[in-house]
Amino acid sequence: MSSNMRIPKVCEYCKNEFTAQKLATKYCSLKCAQRNYKKTKRDEKINAAHKEYTEIRQNNKPKLADTIIYPKSYLTVKDTCKMLNASDSTIRKYIKDGKIKTIRIGKKHIIKREDIEKMFQI
Ligand SMILES: [Zn+2]
Repeated sequence: MSSNMRIPKVCEYCKNEFTAQKLATKYCSLKCAQRNYKKTKRDEKINAAHKEYTEIRQNNKPKLADTIIYPKSYLTVKDTCKMLNASDSTIRKYIKDGKIKTIRIGKKHIIKREDIEKMFQI
């Protein structure tokens, strides 16, 4: 019976019109059905990755800030302020007092991230 049916449909994947032989047919061809399956799988993976990222961001804020916002080995005074949540004048005072070593490039103080990290080691 199904082979006698001619149902005009629109493919859910490529949006082309086609004639289906079964009511349940959603795609114009096997290719579209396979491509849609792959797309669905891909979207699932993307959503899962996105969800994971969001969860990491929510549960692990300081760690994420550490690895993503400050991945640089050499920091400016501004970077250091942000990293230590300290004011510009505090950092500059530390530099002046020799508590933080810097290399001057032009007018800029460049601070080795390692030196900052060492300050926290006893
Ligand atoms: Zn199609």
